[in-house]
This record gives sequence, C-alpha cells and structure tokens, in this order.
Amino acid sequence: PPRISAMSQTAPASVDSSTLPTQMKAWVYQEYGNVDVLSFDSNVKVPELKDDQVLIKVAAAALNPVDFKRRLGKFKASDSPLPTVPGYDVAGVVVKVGSQVKELKVGDEVYGDIHEKALEGPKQFGSLAEYTAVAGLPLAIETAYEGLEKAGFSAGKSILVLGGAGGVGSLVIQLAKQVFGASRVAATASTGKLEFLKSLGVDLAIDYTKEKFEDLPEKFDVVYDAVGEGERNVKAVKEGGSVVVLTGAVTPPGFRFVVTSNGEVLKKLNPYLESGKVKSIVDPKGPFSFDKVKEAFAYLETNRATGKVVIHPI
Ligand code: NDP
Repeated sequence: PPRISAMSQTAPASVDSSTLPTQMKAWVYQEYGNVDVLSFDSNVKVPELKDDQVLIKVAAAALNPVDFKRRLGKFKASDSPLPTVPGYDVAGVVVKVGSQVKELKVGDEVYGDIHEKALEGPKQFGSLAEYTAVAGLPLAIETAYEGLEKAGFSAGKSILVLGGAGGVGSLVIQLAKQVFGASRVAATASTGKLEFLKSLGVDLAIDYTKEKFEDLPEKFDVVYDAVGEGERNVKAVKEGGSVVVLTGAVTPPGFRFVVTSNGEVLKKLNPYLESGKVKSIVDPKGPFSFDKVKEAFAYLETNRATGKVVIHPI
C-alpha cells in the first residue's frame, strides 16, 4: 500500500508533469566523512518513481542530526549505497504520482519525512535536491510522538524533557502539553534558552549549566532524553515510570527506539499544527539558502540549534 500521508491542501499549483527534467541540482556525497565530502552537483538524475510513490518538487528541507551521523558513516551497515543525496524532511508540491497512489494528486502541497525507516535502507536520493521521490511522510515530530506513545504517556502524567530546546525536545514539550494533556512539564536547556522553554509551555525550566536535574527532589512519570544522558536520566523517574532515550547508552528501565515514518502520525497531528496549538520552531539562524547547505550542517553539528535548521528556497 502506498505509504503516503496526505498533509495535502489542494494547491492551485500549475504543474505539468510532462515537462519534468531528467537531471536536477542536488547536494551529494560519494564517500563518508565530515562536511567537506558534500558537493553541489547540477547533473543528478531525477529519481525514478515506484508505483506507490510520488515525485515532489522540493520547496524546503530541514536538517536532522541523523543526516550528519549518516554522512559520518555511523549507520554504514544498514545504509543505502553511495553516492547519497542526504535529507529526510521535505516540503514541496507533488509533480508526478505512481500508478497505485490514491491519496495524492499532482499539485498537492505536502510535507514529511521521506525515509520510512531512519536507519535501515534510507533512500539514496534524499530531500536536499530539486526533486525527491516520497512514499512516506517530518522526522522530529514523529520521533517526539512515537516516544511519548511508547512511554505510555497520557493525561495527568508529569514529564521531564532532557534537551527541551532542540528539534525533538521542543516538540515533545508541546505535544505533552497540547496533545497528551500533561499535568506538569519540566525541561532542560542552557541559561539563554530558559525563556524559550517557558514560551513552549514548560512549567519548570531547568538550567543544566547550574543545576543537576537528577538531584531535584521531584521525580517524573516519564523522562524523555533527547541528549543522551546515560545513567543520569533514570535517576529522575518515579518508580514504575518510563525513560525514553533517543541516543547514547541506555540504562534500564530506559529504552531506545528508532523513528518510523509512515504518515500516520502527521495525519493525527496535522490539525494541531494547522490550528497553531503546536508550533513548528525554525531556528533563527535559518532558513539557509540551498547554496548554504554546508554552513547549515556545520551549524547543526554544533549541537546548539533551537528548533529546526531549515533549507529554503530550493
Ligand atoms: P538538535 O540538534 O535539534 O538538538 C540541539 C539542542 O540540544 C540545542 O538546543 C541544545 O540546547 C540542546 N542540548 C545540547 N546538550 C544539552 C544538554 N546537555 N542538556 C540539555 N540540552 C542540551 O537535535 P534533535 O532534537 O533533532 O535530536 C536530538 C538527538 O536525538 C540527536 O542525537 C539525534 O540524533 C537523536 N534522534 C534520535 C532519533 C531516534 O529515532 N532514535 C530520532 C531523532 C533524533 P543548549 O544550546 O541550551 O545546550
């Protein structure tokens, strides 16, 4: 079945799929390594569509830490072959649909995370390109939601979000409050970002440069660790509570998972995004133009991004 979730609004876009080019501009790497392996290529083949896919004319993309971890070769064992066009998150317009696709049509505006499984065989041709083939729908919000669900989070529970200012953390905070009905949300960040955490709805903003969250007398039903705090995270959970860990070492009862993107989560959350109850946070250093992808990566890799690092226009 087509794994396309239609975050589509019917757009009056004038798209003529008979005049699609066969070559496109894209960012590519031929070998694993640091930012310098990325090169801008004007002659990349436009991806071919499978029957259950749609081709997107890319308007904007966002970076995730998985993009640079993958480029560094950390997921080599399960990666698609090189050369690679990086990029998971995309927003754009459908310009061509596969024969089995029912939910989307040419001209629809869409957004999403194009790799159904983040680490197992992600596509060779990602979203840092003029066109990309999609059969799935953005990574951070899907991760935020999937982690809360897997932790059994529900109305009336309390949560501590480690890394509250990042791409994932800023969404965990908002979803916990606005979608799940959290009774109390605490989160960590450095001094300059505490006001930002409060603007997202955090009840207790903890400055990790001054305080150790695990030494607080208060314990939480769920700890959501988007930093990789190792054994420290489990010290902040109530007995019988859950600890979700996105990266780094896992100490029981903590557990780790890898995000799945099939569009269902975005379908569920789209009304909250459309109404503005849940906001997408674009890092103020961006958006970066398409020729500044290396600079955007170098910034993301400082581990100081607030919300999402976005590439626009493409
Ligand atoms: P970001 O690059 O958006 O995170 C940057 C943020 O982290 C900054 O705002 C920074 O705030 C904050 N931060 C850094 N160190 C600390 C600290 N010690 N305590 C509190 N906050 C801190 O990353 P993402 O949110 O996109 O991803 C987070 C991690 O989760 C990454 O390692 C990523 O690879 C992983 N991940 C895993 C997934 C999975 O499926 N398992 C899916 C998605 C992400 P400040 O400047 O205040 O320090």
